[in-house]
Amino acid sequence: MSVETKTRAPVTVIAHPLVQHKLSYLRDKRTSTGDFRRLVSELTTLLTYEATKDFPTETVRVETPLEWTEVQRISGKKVAVCPVLRAGIGMLDGVLSLVSGARVGFIGLYRDEETLAPVEYYLKLPADLGARDAIVLDPMLATGNSCAAAVAAVKAGGARSVRLIALVAAPEGIERLQSEHPDVPIFCASIDRELNDRGYIMPGLGDAGDRLYGTK
Ligand code: URA
Repeated sequence: MSVETKTRAPVTVIAHPLVQHKLSYLRDKRTSTGDFRRLVSELTTLLTYEATKDFPTETVRVETPLEWTEVQRISGKKVAVCPVLRAGIGMLDGVLSLVSGARVGFIGLYRDEETLAPVEYYLKLPADLGARDAIVLDPMLATGNSCAAAVAAVKAGGARSVRLIALVAAPEGIERLQSEHPDVPIFCASIDRELNDRGYIMPGLGDAGDRLYGTK
């Protein structure tokens, strides 16, 4: 499904059965930490497949064992994968398993408990970000505050383009991200119902960082 307005990049929800099957286990509170981690990675790989479908290709000639032929190869696409700490790290290998030559940038944000605004505490982006297309990773697009700040940091670093891969998105987070960054396409496995009063996505899957790392 693709929801598009004139001025906003699309939000793409991947309805593929494999994606929805894996998401169902992520939602299940009985899923173990090890299985949760594996599923996040697998799901991210499947979302990456979709999020990279517009990568340009070029025709090159190769010699098979039988004859010369023309084939398609991705044409000089340079990618920077930028996970938002800490839960985004759980998605990193899922992208790198398909885009092995990508560079990696890290974005650390915490929430100021008084202002509720995201505060950047760590930023390490590839030096040549200006020559790269960035994929920001954050499993939960909840309020959208940290995703918007992460995208702003990557744009400030000069990225050629930015796209976001999330696992689950809340309508509030989509609205927030798109109002600030209408040029950023969003790829996710589900748009859930709403945020609760503690900022959790409902029905969601709980705290993605805690479930990935077994910290609760
Ligand atoms: N972050 C999470 O890990 N889960 C939510 O539901 C919202 C934000």
